Amino acid sequence: MALTTFEDARQCVLDASRAARLPDESVLVALADSRILAENVSAPFALPGFDHAAMDGYAIGASVPPAPTEIIVRVVGRTLAGDPPFGPLSAGQAVQIATGAMLPEGTGRVVPVESSERLDDDRVKLRLSADASTHIRGAEDDYRSGQLALIAGSRVGFAGCGVLASFGRLEVRVSLRPRVSVLITGSELVPAGGARTPGRIYDSNGALLRGLLRAEGIEAQMQGPLPDDAEGLRAAVLAASACSDVVITTGGASAGVADFMPRLLAELGEVLIWKVAMRPGMPLLFARIGRTLVFGLPGNPVSVVAVFLSLVRPALRLMQGASPPSMTHARLTHALHKSHNRLEFRRATLSVDDQGVARAQAHPALSSGVLRSVAETDALILLAAERMHWQTDDVVEVLRYSSV
Ligand code: AMP
Ligand code: MG
Repeated sequence: MALTTFEDARQCVLDASRAARLPDESVLVALADSRILAENVSAPFALPGFDHAAMDGYAIGASVPPAPTEIIVRVVGRTLAGDPPFGPLSAGQAVQIATGAMLPEGTGRVVPVESSERLDDDRVKLRLSADASTHIRGAEDDYRSGQLALIAGSRVGFAGCGVLASFGRLEVRVSLRPRVSVLITGSELVPAGGARTPGRIYDSNGALLRGLLRAEGIEAQMQGPLPDDAEGLRAAVLAASACSDVVITTGGASAGVADFMPRLLAELGEVLIWKVAMRPGMPLLFARIGRTLVFGLPGNPVSVVAVFLSLVRPALRLMQGASPPSMTHARLTHALHKSHNRLEFRRATLSVDDQGVARAQAHPALSSGVLRSVAETDALILLAAERMHWQTDDVVEVLRYSSV
């Protein structure tokens, strides 16, 4: 069977994910930072909403003098942040004012306390410079009333939470998070804390996927390691698909004697993709069981990372109405070669050179079993399927491990 090209596989995954778009819900702004917005948010009023002092000092009505001057004015009162508006200012008067306090009517500028000298209870000497700021924050400096502030499909993030809070919002509409189940399979796998007998290894895919999903704000249902046993796996996949929007399995996706996933998924649902012209990750399975999307990932830990970042993460984002993370670009620090016609995801370290140009240094380890190559890098670089040679300074596409 011919391999599916990576582009076709990606298109298939994106189409299926768009069709599996999740509904939305209201959540407390206090819990919304990792969520994807399901509404456009506009400012309900102008912010800050009233002209106020940007500095502690004295509010005066004076216009800007043509040259530096000193004036002596009468202090007629004091206004602090949160006070109601202070009565109008007349010429020759000043009101002692705190940062954030509403400007008395007729204020032309605020003179910072650092440019003042209090002469007695009633009088202050103020140094005015010709080009100084008025130290006034305008009523609409932050947002105009009705101005679009946050866009549906974007992650709320800490800044979005701050903006929503400044609008007085308690709740916000966000997309439901996909319910994700992870099934780790492989008879050779030992859970952390278990005994590593000859021929067996500790499960690292569970920990990798938990971290990758948490970075997406998703707390997955974790299962396994499960042995390579057709009946046990069948029951586990069926149970997981019944209560999840997305099921991710690792291991047993190829054509070996103990690889049950291809047959199992064909029995339980519809296999949309099996085997993709990508490296690592070639045996990838993508299927649907009812409305649940199933990613059958190969067991090699580096394959898990490459498939998750290039296909699963975009799917999870689209299901929530967000866009997949965009690629960036970097220039290679060294020449690279490959001798196969599949898209290759090479692990790389990113840096910025003296000229400010983004650089990618490929990790020497090529095997999909070498997790060290992920631990020592921060991105995947994409080496196009049909191309074999890259020179130093050639530009490549970059997919970062962490992406907002
Ligand atoms: P498989 O895709 O099941 O043929 O597994 C490919 C390779 O990945 C084998 O060497 C497995 O031992 C290894 N592998 C599978 N699952 C895991 C896991 N959860 N953690 C670490 N290595 C794994
Ligand atoms: Mg296996």
